[in-house]
Amino acid sequence: SSTELKLVPSPVVAANRPQFHSSIVDSTCTSRGQQEMYRDSAHQSPRSGLLDQALEEYTRMHSHCALYDGDGSSDVKTECRYLVYLEGYEGLGNRLLSLVSAFAYAMATKRALVIDARRGHLAALLCEPFRDSSWLLPPGFVDEVWGAPNLEDAMHRGFQNVSAVRINLRHEQTRADQRFFCPATQQEGLQNVTWIGWESNQYYVPRLFMIPSFWSLLSPWFPDPSLVFTQLTRFLCLPQNQIWARIQRVHESYLASSMMQVGLQVRRNLNADNATLAESVQELIMNCSLKYHLLPRPAMHNKEPVVVVQQQQLKPPPDTGAKSSSSSRTSAAVLVTSLHMQYYEKLRNLYLEHGTEDGTVVSVHMMSHDGVENDSYEQAVKALMEIWLLSFSNKLATSSWSTFGYVAQGLGGLHPVIFNFLALDLDDHTGPACWLGQSSEPCLHYPFVKQLECGNVPMSKQQSNWIATHIRPCQDEKYGLQLC
Ligand code: GDP
Repeated sequence: SSTELKLVPSPVVAANRPQFHSSIVDSTCTSRGQQEMYRDSAHQSPRSGLLDQALEEYTRMHSHCALYDGDGSSDVKTECRYLVYLEGYEGLGNRLLSLVSAFAYAMATKRALVIDARRGHLAALLCEPFRDSSWLLPPGFVDEVWGAPNLEDAMHRGFQNVSAVRINLRHEQTRADQRFFCPATQQEGLQNVTWIGWESNQYYVPRLFMIPSFWSLLSPWFPDPSLVFTQLTRFLCLPQNQIWARIQRVHESYLASSMMQVGLQVRRNLNADNATLAESVQELIMNCSLKYHLLPRPAMHNKEPVVVVQQQQLKPPPDTGAKSSSSSRTSAAVLVTSLHMQYYEKLRNLYLEHGTEDGTVVSVHMMSHDGVENDSYEQAVKALMEIWLLSFSNKLATSSWSTFGYVAQGLGGLHPVIFNFLALDLDDHTGPACWLGQSSEPCLHYPFVKQLECGNVPMSKQQSNWIATHIRPCQDEKYGLQLC
């Protein structure tokens, strides 16, 4: 009801917002400038000059179209159009994929991206992304967008007197919803609509590249299309200062001192795991991690592993000498993230009991194990922290079909090893136990509704070549699409 639609005006004071460039210290969002310190040189992935320029222009447009002036009163300029991100109820991974897609669309169509902070957690998790203007939608505009007609209704009206449209790009869509991707809908329909409400839980960026006018605009910004999500999310999805400080503390306390940092994301519904299946899951994690050299091989054939452990427990080595010998050994810190503790415990115990064949010292860590998903702010904070910590890994494994894992790999610019737990769950055991990821991009699980009729869409040879080269079926979903 409209009584719920109160929204706190943005506390951002326009004149005080600093530049987004990392060379300039941004005290309102320290993660913006500091994030690069945590990534190895292979995964820095700097933006192209053209993308920097586009972001700068976009930021200026956003500021020009700001819905608050200095006094807090609202004002819509006639030349301004908006994309309102309507946060859904799924997990953080889904929300971030959808948010980044909304941003790509907003950039392609020069719409100011704003979010409805009344619902969801993103406004309380992420830094304000745009210098000089807030991305929080003032309360006076919220009703208009939530109450707007859907695409089908707007099309029936020929977009006459339609100032707002609510777009459904969730996984369950009608054919009419999917006409969003027809060039004519964009050009003759939505172009002049002031407000678009964006509801989605998917990563629609690959499909945006299939629309000729968007492709012409977007593709030059991304010379390496496997880094679209990486570059947009490092700009848009930065943790606010108090969350960033927690991420830094965890990193410094548990991970930073090891030479190699490994992230393992294990997405399982424990209710589905009987004892035998749980054992298979553990085996799959270990076999795939060894196959792709994420983890050092445990010294399973060590003749007296138990005695060695007991001796150390009974008689700790003297302080001197022991330190210098251990500091010269290779070390690996493994961060396991999961809703369940058992995957971490088993791995930790394995290395504690057996050590490693090559002498690498392995420490295994877990930050949280909430058991079940809930929609609390605190769980969202932990999820954001763990996604960011995973993204700082030198090597990463994610779980097939998990958007939580997609965000971590994308943010890190990492090609993950993908644990295919579905191979265990399905009766026919199809598919390999794991893949080496072909890209760091998220997979778009539901790209098409059958028989979409856009009419004849002429496409240049360059664009069709580009698509053939850079858009592939996902490894974990053959009907899905992934930028590579
Ligand atoms: P998906 O379901 O794997 O696609 O990922 P989502 O992020 O969309 O939804 C899962 C939600 O469950 C997350 O947002 C978290 O709230 C929670 N969750 C799942 N796995 C983890 C995990 O490893 N760590 C934490 N902290 N939360 C998790």
